[in-house]
Amino acid sequence: MPVFEPLPAHVRFPELEENVLARWGRERIFERSLEQRKDARPFVFYEGPPTANGLPGVHHILARSFKDCFLRYQQMLGRRVERRGGWDTHGLPVELEVERSLKLRSKQEIEEFGVEEFNRLCRASVMEYIDEWERLTGRIGFWLDMEHAYRTYDPSYIESVWWSLQQIHQRGWLYRGYRVAPYCPRCQTSLSSHELGQPGAYRDNTPDPGVTVRFRLIEDPGTSLLAWTTTPWTLPGNLALAVGAEIPYVRVRQGDERLILARGRLDVLDGAYEIEAEFPGSELVGLSYQRLFPYLSEQDRAWKVAAADFVSTEEGTGIVHTAGAYGEDDLRLCQELGLEVRHTVGLDGRFLPFVEEFAGLFVKSADPVISDDLRRRGLLYREETILHTYPFCWRCETPLLYYALDSWFIRTTAVKEALLRHNASVGWVPSHIRDGRMGNWLESLQDWNLSRARYWGTPLPVWVCQSCQQERCVGSFAELGLGQDIDPHKPFIDGVTLACECGGVMRRVPEVIDCWYDSGAMPFAQWHYPFENQERFQEEHPADYISEALDQTRGWFYTLLAESVMLFDQPAYRNVVVPSLVVDDKGRKMSKSRGNVIDPWELLGETGADALRWWFYTTVTVGQEYRISAQRVAESALKFLNVLWNTQSFLVTYANLAKWDPSQTPPDVSARHVLDRWILARLAQTVDEVRLSLDRFDAHSACRAIAELVDEASTWYLRCSRPRFRGTTDGAAFATLHQVLLDISRLMAPFTPFVADAMYRELTSPLPGSHLSVHLEMYPEPDPSRLDPELVRDMAELRRLAEEARALREAAGVPTRQPLARALVEGVDMSAELRAVLAQEINVGEVVCQPATERGRSSVRLDFELTPELRQEGLLRGLVRQVQNLRKRSGLNPGEPADLVLASDPELEEAASAGRELLRSQCFLDTVLTLAWDLPMPAGFPAPVEVAIQGKRARLGLRPGIEPRGGGVHQTG
Ligand SMILES: [Zn+2]
Ligand SMILES: [Zn+2]
Repeated sequence: MPVFEPLPAHVRFPELEENVLARWGRERIFERSLEQRKDARPFVFYEGPPTANGLPGVHHILARSFKDCFLRYQQMLGRRVERRGGWDTHGLPVELEVERSLKLRSKQEIEEFGVEEFNRLCRASVMEYIDEWERLTGRIGFWLDMEHAYRTYDPSYIESVWWSLQQIHQRGWLYRGYRVAPYCPRCQTSLSSHELGQPGAYRDNTPDPGVTVRFRLIEDPGTSLLAWTTTPWTLPGNLALAVGAEIPYVRVRQGDERLILARGRLDVLDGAYEIEAEFPGSELVGLSYQRLFPYLSEQDRAWKVAAADFVSTEEGTGIVHTAGAYGEDDLRLCQELGLEVRHTVGLDGRFLPFVEEFAGLFVKSADPVISDDLRRRGLLYREETILHTYPFCWRCETPLLYYALDSWFIRTTAVKEALLRHNASVGWVPSHIRDGRMGNWLESLQDWNLSRARYWGTPLPVWVCQSCQQERCVGSFAELGLGQDIDPHKPFIDGVTLACECGGVMRRVPEVIDCWYDSGAMPFAQWHYPFENQERFQEEHPADYISEALDQTRGWFYTLLAESVMLFDQPAYRNVVVPSLVVDDKGRKMSKSRGNVIDPWELLGETGADALRWWFYTTVTVGQEYRISAQRVAESALKFLNVLWNTQSFLVTYANLAKWDPSQTPPDVSARHVLDRWILARLAQTVDEVRLSLDRFDAHSACRAIAELVDEASTWYLRCSRPRFRGTTDGAAFATLHQVLLDISRLMAPFTPFVADAMYRELTSPLPGSHLSVHLEMYPEPDPSRLDPELVRDMAELRRLAEEARALREAAGVPTRQPLARALVEGVDMSAELRAVLAQEINVGEVVCQPATERGRSSVRLDFELTPELRQEGLLRGLVRQVQNLRKRSGLNPGEPADLVLASDPELEEAASAGRELLRSQCFLDTVLTLAWDLPMPAGFPAPVEVAIQGKRARLGLRPGIEPRGGGVHQTG
């Protein structure tokens, strides 16, 4: 029986992972990991709910990888880590999908179709891809309890949301206002500023008309005020022109007309002009001008010049066209002037019937028609196309309009200071987001536009009396006389009325709420707080940790914070990790139209989940973009995993050959070889570094530290220790490598859960009483007694000297295989055992240390003089290497016996015969037969291979050994 089960020569990680997954399922490892800690102190995680009406993509794997690693780490530290999944189920994205499938084009068509059936279809569609989500989540090793996932459309969830809105209403922070908001004429609802904060909402280089228009003075029609706008469609709604009272203006003569504009904007004029007068804006205030269109009804104060503080001379003419309903500043100014504001455009973005000339035209299509009309009437001074940054609906991509609407707002500005204060207490990774992206956002905070004039969402729980306008915000179903068995969605809820104190009937307002409010409510709503689970909520708020991609800063991170601060005066989370975005390998956003979207399943099939996860942790720090391609993942992360696997494979192979017994107590560390002590010291140091990094939620540094350890173990340690693994009997090298790999498997378990578990199980298989899985283990503990900074420093120095010696050999044209008599090391005093390591590594008979002759760092010199013995040894080493290569090419396994036939010139033959024992033991040879150069190979040997060894030709023939060997172990020597 071998000590370890022999490993296949080549590993395919995707397959290995599928096997591990199946075993996790059979052995209920996730469930066991929870049961094991059920009485431990909790580490609280909130799952940001995704919407399951779309397929998960590669960027979801990114966020889920980061969520998972810190949860596994905390679990291995001994914490209870419940991970309740959740689904975001309401909102426009859902409605849009259903509209598309039903080919409905407007809200009117939805209402004709029937809101009840429409919402039924929305409910069904939100879980359309739930299987796909669960499958992907499982496949990448993200442990999440999806069986008990919360859903934002559940009545209990909605009731908690209502409770919270009632709290906010009671504090006077929920109000109705006539406000200009970004508005999508297709979805026919306004959007909140955090929705405009979504990536891609603002598009650069959007072309729009820029028109400069004449507004003729009533008293002097030969003189015009010039105003500029990029939305000609707002001109029929013009009510006033605004100027800056302090800004200097001029009247110029151009041909036979006179024009008025800001002095600083003269370059908008085409052709020659003559300045006739200069005056401050205050002198223009009160001038009446001829309205452009006749549609708005007469008002005394309309169509006059007014002073306003928002006028600047950065663009346009310094005179601002003001249409009350289509700009925030415009509306405020008109309200201040006491003007009655009336819409010229309907909710569908089309001109209303009373605007006869353009009635029914969509605003953007009306732009050129209006310009043409003005040109015909001699009112268009200049027209151009400008490129600017313009917002679009983040879901349906319609250009947004600024549109005055009645809407419900949450007065988040009232808690701005508290938001900033609590945000400052959050540990952000990367840290600059706290005061940067998030802090700036909070500094420029606006009230939250909460209501949506839509159908599939949490109904806004405000009832208004039809007689006396009394308003009541409802906080539970019981207040309406309803039980828990209802569906509180539209249209049912709209039929529920309340009796007003005045005797009138109270009806619910028609709106639903922003679905971002739903997800921000998950800390309490997932537990139906405060109706149930009060203790649980107290215990699990705020969360210790959340993680989502960068686009959530102004999304979920904000709504979580805002609601927790308003309701509980607390932050919602203590730590948040924010990986940047995934883009293609050229740095471009992935999009269907570009055809550069990477299918997550294809990627997983090629590289496996561990490689992908490892790549996300290591390739860049969390603040940078992930430029992904299968090739990039394979070249770094997959390669790394292969190196790790080969190291494990090396241990397994040679431990089996040596029949090493892992259950035997190994020699005390202090009595082990210096290389063993060194790699154990590096291990202890790495454990410290990794834990320190992970305690700061820095996965990148942790993984980098592990990668460095793996690199040192697999290259330097293994190369220098190789002779001790062949035919060794003391077991210290095996015990050391075994422990290093076992601890690496525990260190890596949070990051590469599959390969770490496969390694762990293999390594612990001969040890009785080990855990079923690495994920039931504790994380490696710091061990100060193993730290040896001096040795670590000395070894680093030694490696530098070895590198220097290699360079010297290269310059002298003497390969490392050629033994040299000695090396002189200057400026450092090395212990005998380190000198021996260096001597072996640079292949010299001895290393002699000399005191430093001058100050500065140590250096090495080599004695290149070759004695006949050294030359012979060099030839022998060359021969050993060639035979080892030939063994590999012939497909022989390590330790498998073989026979060698050698034909060569006499000097090489002599070297072989003098070093016969070394040759046999290093190459696992039973017999070594020498043959005259031109004789044919003996029977049973394949055709010989001709090689050159230090300029000497040799022919080598190799065949598998004939004699069977017991136990597969070849006794060398
Ligand atoms: Zn839209
Ligand atoms: Zn009333």
